Amino acid sequence: MNGFMDLHGKTAIVTGAGRGIGRAICILLSRLGASVVVNYSGNGAEADKTLAMCGSAIKFRADVSDEDECRRLFEKCEASFGAPQILVNNAGITRDGLLMRMSSDDFDRVLDVNLKGAFNCVKLASKSMMRARYGRIVNISSVVASSGNAGQINYVASKAGLLGLTRAAAAELAARGITVNSVAPGFIETDMTASLTDGTREAMSARIPQGRFGTPEDVAGAVAFLCSDAAGYITGQTLGVNGGMYM
Ligand code: NAP
Repeated sequence: MNGFMDLHGKTAIVTGAGRGIGRAICILLSRLGASVVVNYSGNGAEADKTLAMCGSAIKFRADVSDEDECRRLFEKCEASFGAPQILVNNAGITRDGLLMRMSSDDFDRVLDVNLKGAFNCVKLASKSMMRARYGRIVNISSVVASSGNAGQINYVASKAGLLGLTRAAAAELAARGITVNSVAPGFIETDMTASLTDGTREAMSARIPQGRFGTPEDVAGAVAFLCSDAAGYITGQTLGVNGGMYM
């Protein structure tokens, strides 16, 4: 038993969980007792590594921007473990570029995966959660949703959109025992930030009061808390996990 954070008997779908933050979330939810559906988009070998680090878990390939593929993801979950009590919308991509040079395709694709993907999954999850009068939904936004960031107009718009989606869904689903919250990570060590040069990395670390980038595990702890019964009266909120870089 894990006390307030006990997730035995719960099933979680975590999107974009083959690598990085999603993988750490799966590992922690699994350690706390949940059965986990590890969603990924293309890299099955990495998803296999995530599976190997979890207890009761399956992997399922689905592009979250595609409604039909999301439906199949939820059907697979239902067939394997039953309907999910927990949904973590973590799948996210970047296609950075300055405003004047950004193509419509790059703008649309980032919005489709990061924001529409969360809409698709929240819609599917809320059906069974409303029936069960219980649910925990966590959307992974970003510190840049609040701070802004040059060269990421598509990504920042998608992550700010997620904060609005969180509040609207929270208001709509609160009476059915479902909480909907956002976690907004700062700079976290994953493939997404791996291409930064040492100079950029040092400059960024200097702007973080704790003086370091975060780890995927730092984010997973906040997500697990919001998925637990300890967070039952918290909904529509954004929890920053950023070492103090934005307060
Ligand atoms: P990552 O290492 O690049 O991993 C991204 C994951 O998302 C991968 O598992 C990838 O699948 C999956 N994915 C990509 N497109 C998808 C799609 N269309 N459908 C389903 N899955 C898809 O990213 P990360 O750094 O862990 O980021 C996770 C989340 O945290 C993202 O939403 C990101 O925006 C957010 N975030 C990250 C940071 C940071 O500093 N790293 C900061 C703030 C917020 P494959 O492995 O199959 O390619």
